Amino acid sequence: MSTLVQTAPLLPTYVRHDVTFVSGEGAWLVDAEGRRYLDLLAGIAVVALGHQHPAPLAAARAQLDALWHVSNLYSTEPMTRLAELLSERFGGASAFFCNSGAEAVEAGLKWARKASGKPVVVALEGSFHGRTHGALAVTGQPAKRAAWEPLAPAVRFATPNGTASLEAAMGSDVGAILLEPVLGEGGIVPLERAFVADARALADEHGAVLLFDEVQAGVGRTGSFFAWQGIDVRPDAVALAKGLANGLPIGALLVAEEAPTGFEPGDHASTFGGNPVSCAAACAVVETVDDELLAAVRERGAQLQDGLAAFPGVVGTRGRGLMLGADLDRPAGPVAAAALAGGLLVGTAGEQTLRLTPPLTISQSEVELGLELLEEVLR
Ligand code: PLP
Repeated sequence: MSTLVQTAPLLPTYVRHDVTFVSGEGAWLVDAEGRRYLDLLAGIAVVALGHQHPAPLAAARAQLDALWHVSNLYSTEPMTRLAELLSERFGGASAFFCNSGAEAVEAGLKWARKASGKPVVVALEGSFHGRTHGALAVTGQPAKRAAWEPLAPAVRFATPNGTASLEAAMGSDVGAILLEPVLGEGGIVPLERAFVADARALADEHGAVLLFDEVQAGVGRTGSFFAWQGIDVRPDAVALAKGLANGLPIGALLVAEEAPTGFEPGDHASTFGGNPVSCAAACAVVETVDDELLAAVRERGAQLQDGLAAFPGVVGTRGRGLMLGADLDRPAGPVAAAALAGGLLVGTAGEQTLRLTPPLTISQSEVELGLELLEEVLR
């Protein structure tokens, strides 16, 4: 069984498994000893097309040779192209680019505050939106702070899939409803279409915006390009990150063209946001996530979920596409560690839930093999 270690001079914010990876291809990783592992986690839903996928790899390589960075005071071709591609996929939207999921959510919250003019955010119990805290709160420039005071957004929480609870949390002070269409870190909990439709109606009724956090669920992960397309409820804005550039850092906020613009020049910024190398890779990802791949995501997801449901120790399965959770009759951490020792990467989402977010390109036989390896651990 693999062990959890603290070896390098890194602050102990993570407890890492005792393995160092040196290369990867598709759904496979190789460690420093040359051992191969099947990756059903993909960097927690980040390496969307699989490790070293030729399309983003070629695009990033070409861009590395051409231009690494210019200030956001200027344009680059990859950034412009990515904004166009995402707008097309969304059905008309404008983008703000940043470097991570938390930053994309922060951009969304700041935009929502300006767009609605109201301070309270209604979010869901069990949700996860990132771990940043207070960069703006310690910025001593009134002009940069004024429009967002009080700086930590006032938040009320509602129960996932509980319309009555959401209704109770609403009020004339609510400027945004923030939802993950499938709660990720919260245990892989898909929101029901009726609940999300109710959220849309409540947001409209209260003059609030509907903001989706698709940092984990977006870019094809749930079997549609945006998770909202699978439940057919269009938000006013959506935050993307993880899978967008296949592992290069990027985040994006997309604001629907019919939604209030909210932001004006100077309202928000990110030095590295829209990095040309990340954007070039992201363009290749967006172009590769086509209808054929999305159909395969739904098929492989069903294969994986059906296989899991039949396993000893699995008491329930949830999810959409290739964003799956399996509730166990035992703690999930030791199961993930034992799987790693057996050559398989899986994640956890909560104490007793295994998380499976393989590359969207995983093959039928790789899913079969993954199921075999996992069954051995659970038996
Ligand atoms: N939002 C969701 C739904 C996430 O799953 C995560 C990360 O897991 C984040 C936001 C934060 O993203 P990042 O770690 O890139 O800041």
